[in-house]
Amino acid sequence: MAGDAVIFLGPPGAGKGTQAARLASELGYKKLSTGDLLREHVAGNTELGRLAKPIMERGDLVPDDLILAMVREELAGLEAPHVIFDGFPRTIAQARALDRLLAELGIRLKGVLLVDVGQEELIRRLLERARKEGRSDDNEATIRRRLEVYAQQTQPLVSYYQSTGALRHIEGLGTPDEVYGRVTGALS
Ligand code: AMP
Repeated sequence: MAGDAVIFLGPPGAGKGTQAARLASELGYKKLSTGDLLREHVAGNTELGRLAKPIMERGDLVPDDLILAMVREELAGLEAPHVIFDGFPRTIAQARALDRLLAELGIRLKGVLLVDVGQEELIRRLLERARKEGRSDDNEATIRRRLEVYAQQTQPLVSYYQSTGALRHIEGLGTPDEVYGRVTGALS
């Protein structure tokens, strides 16, 4: 079973979700967002949701083993393994496990797109999203914690994927259309 995968990497508020959704719909890929899946678990009050809720509200990361079990289950249910990962992997352990999983399933990594914008702009966007969407982890204290967690635990993935040659830098400033143009350019 051969397939392709694209990973969107970048800090919270960089616009990964928006870009990933558009790319997924235009390519006919499945978008797999671990944040969205966790929010569904929280809304459905499942065991995983009850465990994840306080962690997400603090802005910390849900343990790797729980995330990996959830991703495995999603991938197992796919008919055609063409996937866009949004917000996953977020730690080196998750990236290593994903490498193994992709190899196992015969999925080729087409690219890792690092969408980046400066810290001030990230905070501005996240506070705006808080007003519009009312996400419980979009308050200022949690936003700062999520940016810290990104710098400590997720940023190391930049050199991880740089060393495999998969990394592409995408400037995240600009309109969604402008950024999308850079996304498709980076994959062609
Ligand atoms: P997101 O919507 O991607 O910003 O994710 C919201 C929250 O869900 C994060 O702040 C984490 O608490 C949790 N989360 C999402 N994806 C992951 C992941 N891959 N590993 C650990 N925690 C995650």
